[in-house]
Amino acid sequence: MSIARFWRETPRRYNLGGSKCTNCGTTYFPPRSVCPECTRHRQSIEKMIPFQLSGEGEVISYTIVHDPAEGFELQVPYVLALVKTVEGPVLTGQVVDTAPEAVAIGLKVRATFRKLREEGKAGVIHYGYKFAPVEDSSFAGGPRGPTPPVPSGLPSRDRASA
Ligand SMILES: [Zn+2]
Repeated sequence: MSIARFWRETPRRYNLGGSKCTNCGTTYFPPRSVCPECTRHRQSIEKMIPFQLSGEGEVISYTIVHDPAEGFELQVPYVLALVKTVEGPVLTGQVVDTAPEAVAIGLKVRATFRKLREEGKAGVIHYGYKFAPVEDSSFAGGPRGPTPPVPSGLPSRDRASA
């Protein structure tokens, strides 16, 4: 999926910007400025480019948390998972929108932008990505669903007001 198509299909932005080594093709999140796969060759330093993860991946390991970290008290039990993205990097995140018992190795998930926690009396709210299960048919790494209609020209916001 192109970056442009990714942004069109994602209602809300979230920060999953990593980097990619154009020398060997390895992708990284968080982004790196040097490719560990290539350091011996000193070729990677100028070969790293920004790379946007789709946020789609598969649960490769998980744990059900009953003893919450500070700020997560209202959310227990919750599932913390290692998600291997379709692009390669492994992310850690909470799995939401499903019962903890329904989470399993191999579950297809997609990152969504959510409130992570509130902090202290000032009520500072932290946002970030969490993972929600996705149907196989809409998963980039799985069988293809119907091709979405291609927007012609203006974003829908502008069409609606025209
Ligand atoms: Zn490399």
